[in-house]
Amino acid sequence: MYRHLDNLDLPIDLPIGKVVCVGRNYLDHVREMNTKVSEQALLFMKPTTALCHLQQPIKIPAQRGQCHNEVEIAVLIKDRLCNASEETVSGGLWGIGMGLDLTLRDIQSTLKQQGHPWERAKAFDASCPVSGFVPASQIPALQALSFTLSVNNEVRQQGNTKDMIRGIISLIAEISESFTLESGDIVMTGTPSGVAALHHGDNVEASLDGYFLIQTNVVAV
Ligand code: ZN
Repeated sequence: MYRHLDNLDLPIDLPIGKVVCVGRNYLDHVREMNTKVSEQALLFMKPTTALCHLQQPIKIPAQRGQCHNEVEIAVLIKDRLCNASEETVSGGLWGIGMGLDLTLRDIQSTLKQQGHPWERAKAFDASCPVSGFVPASQIPALQALSFTLSVNNEVRQQGNTKDMIRGIISLIAEISESFTLESGDIVMTGTPSGVAALHHGDNVEASLDGYFLIQTNVVAV
């Protein structure tokens, strides 16, 4: 069963909620997907059944085409945020972690062509492995956090929050204008370039600045 953990793998006393994801938040990824920067943040959601622990093996569907890694900074919400100012957002975050927005790319391409929603490609069970969360108070510079995803000992994705089109705080304020974020919700803040297919047996390493490094592997199920 999933529950929120801190960076020492101790349980956090917050409920489990929805996951709100943003697309196209790094220019290099916008370019690699041959798409455009959205005028308003491009938002979609994953249900609670998408959540699982990044420390456990990453389960990808074996029979549904390519499953891509999208490594992202994940933000755990502490306070209810509705039409929140940036100041309120700053005080309302529990902490920062990393997550994978696992994406069934072939299915997503078909859905995009048809103009259909992305949930079949993005919201499947275990499509959102997340790390433990570092308390926000221990992270002085949200706007200069680097993170890396390596697959089989090769760096595949390297990001820094300074390269976000929408920074963490303003992004969350904007989300809270469209729908309320509740205590225990997670915001996934977009992926940098380097998305590619994961395969059964891949070794995966995710690191967040000097805060933690997680080693896991991929299992096709
Ligand atoms: Zn994503």
